[in-house]
Amino acid sequence: MIGAVDIGGTKIAVGAVREDGTVAHLSECRTAPALGFPDAMQRVRRMLHEVVDACGDFDGIGIACPGPLNPFTGIIGEVGTLPGWQGGNLVEELDAEFRAPVAVENDADAAALAEYVWGAARGVDSFIYITVSTGIGGGIILGGQLYRGVAGSHPELGHQTIDNSGPLCYCTARGCWESLASGTAMAAWMCERSPESGPMSAAEICELAIKGDESALLAVKREGYYLGLGMANLVTLFTPDVLALGGGVMRSSSLFLDDAVKVVRGLCTQVPAEKTRINVSSLGSEAGLLGAAQAWLFRHR
Ligand SMILES: [Zn+2]
Repeated sequence: MIGAVDIGGTKIAVGAVREDGTVAHLSECRTAPALGFPDAMQRVRRMLHEVVDACGDFDGIGIACPGPLNPFTGIIGEVGTLPGWQGGNLVEELDAEFRAPVAVENDADAAALAEYVWGAARGVDSFIYITVSTGIGGGIILGGQLYRGVAGSHPELGHQTIDNSGPLCYCTARGCWESLASGTAMAAWMCERSPESGPMSAAEICELAIKGDESALLAVKREGYYLGLGMANLVTLFTPDVLALGGGVMRSSSLFLDDAVKVVRGLCTQVPAEKTRINVSSLGSEAGLLGAAQAWLFRHR
């Protein structure tokens, strides 16, 4: 039994996952980042003790957390969605208390590992996982191993430049993939085009598109186009066996994924792009928790 902690900007999921990828226990609390790292970890410890009471001791604990972070020391960097948590050490907080080894992974890498072992990319050699929600992130698996860059760093797929004259991104570049194709980007574009309708989430825009709203349909078309451009870069650069997409925005993928795939097939003429399988993530709402558990299993099994 693996203890699993999935830390997001809005909620923290804590649970137990069996080695076959089934979830034995799941509870959630709000992240409330402003209360600070020690407060959040106090809640995580309490929830983990409840899991132990219900399911028995853990073989280990896996943690998925937004980056930047050091996956080996467990020290959190300057994470946009977790202001003030910089320097917090996820490993130290848990390993002594639960007498179990702890493994920490960037949340997109963790989700990639779960998808690779239990989901849409089982049994392949090369795989890219993309998560599209408020931002865009991803993880790369090559030759059956999680790809890490220099000094163990996590590549930031969402900050590849798609349009150098595009919107300014918080990373200081212009027209990053994330600033054009994330849920936040969809909402910002819609707000600029139809300010009279007030701020709307990507999910609300997709609902409006289904009802035939003209602006929402354009927003969805634009999403397919820009999502496709970033995917095309990844297919040309890596020619993966499988490219899978998860995250909240992909719940509406039926509205724009076909368009995105058409962009890929149209642009990637120098590689056998038709051989890359492009899927929506198959793990659903438990993906985050499964990612946390797989982060531990991948390192310790
Ligand atoms: Zn950026």
